Amino acid sequence: MSFEDELLDLLRTKQAYLEGHFLLSSGLHSPNYMQCAKILQFPRIAADLGRRIHEKLAGDVPALDLVLSPALGGIIIGHEVARSWDVPFLFCEREEGRMKLRRFEIRPGQRVVVIEDVVTTGGSTRETIAVAESYGAIIVGIGSIVDRGANPPHFPAVFHSLLKVPLEHYQVESCPLCEREIPLVKPGSRQAKK
Ligand SMILES: [Zn+2]
Repeated sequence: MSFEDELLDLLRTKQAYLEGHFLLSSGLHSPNYMQCAKILQFPRIAADLGRRIHEKLAGDVPALDLVLSPALGGIIIGHEVARSWDVPFLFCEREEGRMKLRRFEIRPGQRVVVIEDVVTTGGSTRETIAVAESYGAIIVGIGSIVDRGANPPHFPAVFHSLLKVPLEHYQVESCPLCEREIPLVKPGSRQAKK
């Protein structure tokens, strides 16, 4: 069994990868849902995934000053990647809707890797990259546990993920799961919607 298959199995077992009928934040419907927090609650698993992301990036990133992640999703895995690399870990967070570095500083010329749990469109990753670049940092790599993009994201540096699971989604009007009357679940809430 490849590591990708093992990881997908693990995500299923820990209910981080759910299959059914889900309402996405975009309003679209999907037959599956990924919430990495469900596996990252286990520190030994988080440490192993962090080490693997570090190993994948290390060949392309000979020198690194720090790891930066967006809160909240990227914090645990970013911290583990930084631990494996033995560099500091910083996070940025939203303030009034805008991604900012509220508690830390990055110096011009510092070499930064950006780590996420899941990359889908790459939007929050690009916001995080923009924060680092606004301090004059050099983005030298991007990593995630899961890549859910249908197409390769446009990033200014090399991107590695541990697992590719392209996101499937449907418009409400043409959703085959609605047609089969499978209860729609809004992730984060426990009750199925009628
Ligand atoms: Zn549907």
